[in-house]
Amino acid sequence: MSGPPVAVIGAGFGGLALAIRLQSAGIPTILFEQRDKPGGRAYVYEDQGFVFDAGPTVITAPNAIEHLFALSGRQLADYCELLPVDPYYRLSWESGFEMEYNGDAEAVAAQVRSKHAPDAEGYRRFLRYSEAVCEQGYVRLGHEPFLDWWSMVRALPQLTRLKSWRTVYGIVSGFIRDPELRQAFSFQSLLIGGNPFAVSSIYALVHALERRWGVWFPRGGTHALVRAMARLYTDLGGELRLSAPVDEIAVRGGRVSAVRTADGRETPVRAVASNGDVVHTYAHLLRNTDRGRQAGPRLERSHHSNSLFVVYFGLRRPAPQVAHHTVIFGPRYRELLADIFDRGVLADDFSVYLHNPTRTDPSLAPPGQAGFYALAPVPHLGKAPLDWERIGPEFADRVLEQVERRAIPGLRQDLVTRRIFTPLDFRRELNAHHGSAFSLEPLLTQSAWFRVHNRDPKIGGLYFVGAGTHPGAGVPGVVASARATAGLMLADLGVAQ
Ligand SMILES: Cc1cc2nc3c(=O)[nH]c(=O)nc-3n(C[C@H](O)[C@H](O)[C@H](O)COP(=O)(O)OP(=O)(O)OC[C@H]3O[C@@H](n4cnc5c(N)ncnc54)[C@H](O)[C@@H]3O)c2cc1C
Repeated sequence: MSGPPVAVIGAGFGGLALAIRLQSAGIPTILFEQRDKPGGRAYVYEDQGFVFDAGPTVITAPNAIEHLFALSGRQLADYCELLPVDPYYRLSWESGFEMEYNGDAEAVAAQVRSKHAPDAEGYRRFLRYSEAVCEQGYVRLGHEPFLDWWSMVRALPQLTRLKSWRTVYGIVSGFIRDPELRQAFSFQSLLIGGNPFAVSSIYALVHALERRWGVWFPRGGTHALVRAMARLYTDLGGELRLSAPVDEIAVRGGRVSAVRTADGRETPVRAVASNGDVVHTYAHLLRNTDRGRQAGPRLERSHHSNSLFVVYFGLRRPAPQVAHHTVIFGPRYRELLADIFDRGVLADDFSVYLHNPTRTDPSLAPPGQAGFYALAPVPHLGKAPLDWERIGPEFADRVLEQVERRAIPGLRQDLVTRRIFTPLDFRRELNAHHGSAFSLEPLLTQSAWFRVHNRDPKIGGLYFVGAGTHPGAGVPGVVASARATAGLMLADLGVAQ
């Protein structure tokens, strides 16, 4: 195809997936990434022989990523090996109760029965519900762009049948009575930035999604998968410009015309898809347009998902008793989430997700050692404008103390290295509004047609991909958004699909 290229701003999972789709369809594409490596939230740090994946560690729905390679007759397996993770998670409570779950419904039901026998039947019914929402919400509607009100109206009967006005916790509580089991089957919406007490029950689909396609971890870490996607894209002839922050999307005559990088260089383009934060895109990159001046402040006032505090740490010894993925619940659930999402309080009794990748791939640490990360959900900067530069190191001590007490005895005396990532870093490094970790909160009133559309309705040639657009955050979500956005772009560019 002749003429100027198409630009994708941001090489997160969504931006990479879109750039692969465009390039596979023969559209010359330039992918601009402000950081020195692709990946976005899935960046990687290397410290004294430890490889720390910065963000996503639970890789689900790998079929959607395999599909990106199949578009050009290639195979993901030739670029990256995915290793199965079993159990998917270990869940651990203050009371001493622990459960593990994987894709074996019988094994999960047996643990549910031994905890609270009447809930075993409720779990089976919940599973059927979760499978129905997964089919509807992810398989059928996940990659459909909701551009007009009618697309929403068409989906309404199914959404009503699935009681999508209820919350995740509300729906789970209808099936299960035990308080700890209610947590076990509702916390998953937190993986995409949704408070289970507030977001639509559609997000109960995560449980079925994990079971249907399994939970995987790339050999070499999540960033090995990012590198595989970046390599596929450049193998297809795509251009990846790293350390190239975009400062402005130029608009002429109501259409995007060029992308201007911070060094002042202007690249003429025929279309632009932003994988950057949606507030940053409208309020900053489009600051010189009426549309940007109007949509930016409106989006600033939307509900943004929580932030995260992450401590990456290396130990001089492995901890083979720790599962690959562990959720360490604090003593409070509903109230802790209200502190994070509503009240903007940094609690002392936080819950922690602990990542132990060397359990699956020992090559991620020097021989005989192990690297981890511990992550605590915290309020975003709009709710709690805390001075993380000052309090970060002390908060990291408290997170490690909690992990030492609940999962890795003697941790602090065996520390080799540690680094932290705070809400300020989400803002500084990723332009995330309020330092949100997952962009717009996935409330029903901010989902599908109510979310930022995959194609801007006012500026010609402007598109969105990634967590802020439909369907939303999480690797399967942003990869599905790339499918929705690519469908629109290719149709608008007159490419047969
Ligand atoms: C700690 C953590 C753990 C997570 N765990 C999981 C998990 O286990 N499983 C899961 O499925 N999901 C997980 N998630 C969510 C998932 O990582 C994200 O929803 C997803 O990766 C976001 O992808 P994205 O395409 O929206 O792009 P992002 O990853 O947000 O990337 C956007 C890119 O755009 C770039 N950019 C922004 N502005 C500009 C500009 N002006 N010029 C150039 N480049 C720009 C940024 O530098 C960045 O690279 C996790 C998230 C975090 C933070």
